[in-house]
Amino acid sequence: MDLGIKGRTAIVCAASKGLGKGVATALAQEGVNLFITARTKADIEAAADEIRKATGVKVTPVVGDITTEEGRQQVLAACPNPDILINNAGGPPPGDFKDFNLDDWRKAVEWNMITPIALIKATVYGMMDRGFGRIVNITSQSVKAPIASLELSNGARTGLTGAIAIIARKAVRNNVTINNILPGPFDTDRLRGTSKKMAEARGVSFEQMSEERKKAIPAGRFGNTVEFGAATAFLCSEHAGFITGQNLLLDGGIYPGSM
Ligand code: NAP
Repeated sequence: MDLGIKGRTAIVCAASKGLGKGVATALAQEGVNLFITARTKADIEAAADEIRKATGVKVTPVVGDITTEEGRQQVLAACPNPDILINNAGGPPPGDFKDFNLDDWRKAVEWNMITPIALIKATVYGMMDRGFGRIVNITSQSVKAPIASLELSNGARTGLTGAIAIIARKAVRNNVTINNILPGPFDTDRLRGTSKKMAEARGVSFEQMSEERKKAIPAGRFGNTVEFGAATAFLCSEHAGFITGQNLLLDGGIYPGSM
């Protein structure tokens, strides 16, 4: 299927690795020119080179911390009028409610709620004026079903989901959609890092821990970044103009509810 977005321009936040890079690659394969961000210069430049060489689109790396005002202004200065915005950043650390202080909560809200809201506010009205826009927030399966060790993430991401629910329904009149993608376990550095920590805590090997985690997923495997990118690219396509304010769970069947 031709997604009908060739020649469009996208900002993809936090895209040198993992889910963000999967989305950037999928959009580039559709002919979308990219502004991609991450904090580590060498990694984001390497990702930009790789995607550019593989697809021939224009890829501009922007180095900065997207959870800071300065980082957001850097990417908006480089690309003030994107057609597509993919909101993504690192997730807050795991832990227990009794150990989190208020600064931990403020940081989680800044990273996973305020940052996407700020970028949406800066771009959505221009998109509406131009009559096309696609915004996707990468959130988490924890929005549908809270994860015990990720209370900071559960709170901030659910807050974002509520915060954008009305603007998603206003913007669609002008062919601008805002949706959330809720990843379950995808095979990225972040997931490998958590498996390593779980393995150490249990005194088992990384391989055994990974196999146990996969067995608990109805699909019997982790998701991969290519399928994550493809699903997100569809939500950014010209065909997805009637889909807005939705929460698309990509979790290999983990969520047990019927809907
Ligand atoms: P990952 O493989 O660790 O990749 C994270 C990417 O984001 C890297 O490119 C990293 O580069 C960049 N990044 C992190 N913090 C940033 C910041 N403040 N500003 C700019 N770039 C930043 O992680 P991932 O698995 O793709 O996860 C992405 C998001 O999805 C996270 O919020 C995670 O919690 C969420 N999520 C992931 C899964 C999963 O299974 N993978 C499941 C649910 C939710 P630098 O470090 O150089 O900045």
